[in-house]
Amino acid sequence: AQLTDLVRDHVREVADFPAPGVLFRDITPLLADGAAFGALVRGLAEKYRGQVDAVAGLESRGFILAAPLALELGVGMITVRKAGRLPGPVLGVDYALEYGTARMELRPETISEGQRVLIIDDVLATGGTGAAAIELVERSGGDVVALAMLLELAALGGRTKLDGYQVDSVLVY
Ligand code: IMP
Repeated sequence: AQLTDLVRDHVREVADFPAPGVLFRDITPLLADGAAFGALVRGLAEKYRGQVDAVAGLESRGFILAAPLALELGVGMITVRKAGRLPGPVLGVDYALEYGTARMELRPETISEGQRVLIIDDVLATGGTGAAAIELVERSGGDVVALAMLLELAALGGRTKLDGYQVDSVLVY
């Protein structure tokens, strides 16, 4: 509940960004507040301490959360990246967006067999990005412990794409 208030108090809502009709949730005020950012990372670490062997961040804002969380937990960080950014060999998953398609990639060598992986990102919207990340981690031999999201836009139904997985959202809209 403390973490929920923390996130609610530091997220900005921006109308018509990045396109008309979209209400964008902006986490930059949270990141810019050192006390709030620290409390968030420590709070998330308490939740998963002892349960994960690696934290996988989803490009780009997931990286900002995954790196300090991994260090706080004493484990490594895995980067799940947009197409074409990682040197090979990589695994890739294509998925549908509202308009068009996207692709996420992962270097399978960064995950070991049976490693317990926590996936983290800032916002769960339609769930496509999270579902792609799950597939990449599992095809690399990892076990997905949970998906941690700061914000969940429930109206977009992302959870249905992540059926059977633990999805922990700090704040649900
Ligand atoms: P999904 O694949 O539709 O669940 O979209 C998730 C991706 O879109 C995440 O990587 C988010 O960072 C990004 N995203 C979607 N909506 C927002 C938003 O309102 N604020 C920030 N990022 C968003």
